[in-house]
Formats: sequence, structure tokens, C-alpha cells
Amino acid sequence: MKEIDGRGKVVHSEEGTEAPYDLLIAIPAHKGMEVIEKNGLGKSGWIPTDRHRLNMEGRDDVFVLGDTTNLPISKAGSTAHFEADALAENLAAMAKIGSPVRDYDGKVFCFIEAGKDRATYAMFDYQNPPSPKPPTKAVHWFKTAYNRLYWASARGLL
Ligand SMILES: Cc1cc2nc3c(=O)[nH]c(=O)nc-3n(C[C@H](O)[C@H](O)[C@H](O)COP(=O)(O)OP(=O)(O)OC[C@H]3O[C@@H](n4cnc5c(N)ncnc54)[C@H](O)[C@@H]3O)c2cc1C
Repeated sequence: MKEIDGRGKVVHSEEGTEAPYDLLIAIPAHKGMEVIEKNGLGKSGWIPTDRHRLNMEGRDDVFVLGDTTNLPISKAGSTAHFEADALAENLAAMAKIGSPVRDYDGKVFCFIEAGKDRATYAMFDYQNPPSPKPPTKAVHWFKTAYNRLYWASARGLL
């Protein structure tokens, strides 16, 4: 998206195409934290992160998780979750045997609500791009239950 003509209700693209709209719901460009950019920790507010070990590039003892990495994957809760799984195991291994034991593989899992009580999901990693299946009611109900199960079990672990 290059420009929005609010009066004419038309979206103009970088490629020169146009799309008229009645109601526009658009996601602005993502930005990282200003404090990161201002302090020279990373361009555009993202911290340069090793995609497998999750250490800040150039530092062996600083680790980065979640939305603040510059990794080319979704900024999603599940990303932070799977990164934390790998990093927690590596931190424990570094304390016990002096070296990490596994790589983060870029795993992300996202439910996608499609409306009318139907949903699908996307699961992907650095090697395997997403390939969502057609939405079903079963996935919608599973997602609804999973929201509650996740937080019930997370509370149990804390
Ligand atoms: C509207 C919306 C809907 C979303 N829906 C989904 C979804 O359905 N599924 C999904 O997987 N993901 C979803 N996400 C994305 C998900 O919420 C984020 O990817 C995830 O929360 C990132 O976790 P994080 O720990 O990296 O950052 P955050 O959750 O943002 O945590 C960072 C924390 O640091 C604190 N903080 C900031 N600066 C300071 C400071 N100077 N000192 C101390 N603390 C500080 C903040 O207050 C915050 O609590 C959604 C995000 C948004 C905004």
C-alpha cells in the first residue's frame, strides 16, 4: 500500500494499481521500540538476533525473544512461546555443561479465525512455509477451548 485517498475512498499500491473501499481496515507498518533504535541496539527498533541460538548478534551472553527480535518470522505469542522453549533449555544446558543443546527452528503456530464459527491454522518454520487448510468449525471450537486450556496450564506451571 502506497497511499490512501480518504475522500475518494481508494487505496493506491506501490505497483500503481487501485482498489476502491467502503470500510478500510489496514495494518500500519510494524516498528520496533524507539528506545532500541535511539540507543544504537538495532535498526528500526529490532535487535539483530541469531536465528538459531537467539543471542544478540555479537554478544554471547545477551538473548532476545518475542517481538523485539529482527527475525523474519511472525510477531506472535506462539513465536515467543517456542523461542522460550528452546532458549530455556539452552540456558539450563549452558549452566550445566557449558554449551547450548538445541537450535530454535523458526517454529510458529497461529490459529486463523475465518468468520461464521470456522477457523484454520498456520504452522511453519524457517524451512517450511505456511500452507493453511480450508477453515472448519472443528478448528474454531478447538481454538476456543485451547485459549482456556493454555492459560489454565500456564497458571499451573507458574
Ligand atoms: C491486537 C493484538 C492481537 C494479537 N493477537 C495475537 C494472537 O491471536 N495470537 C498470537 O500468537 N499473537 C497475537 N498477538 C501478538 C502477541 O501479543 C505478541 O507477539 C506477544 O505478546 C509478544 O510477546 P513479547 O513478550 O515479545 O512482548 P510483549 O507481550 O509486548 O511484552 C513486553 C513487555 O515489556 C514491558 N516493557 C516495555 N518497556 C519496558 C521497560 N522499559 N521496562 C520494563 N518493562 C517494559 C511491556 O509493558 C510488556 O509487558 C497480538 C498482538 C496484538 C497487538
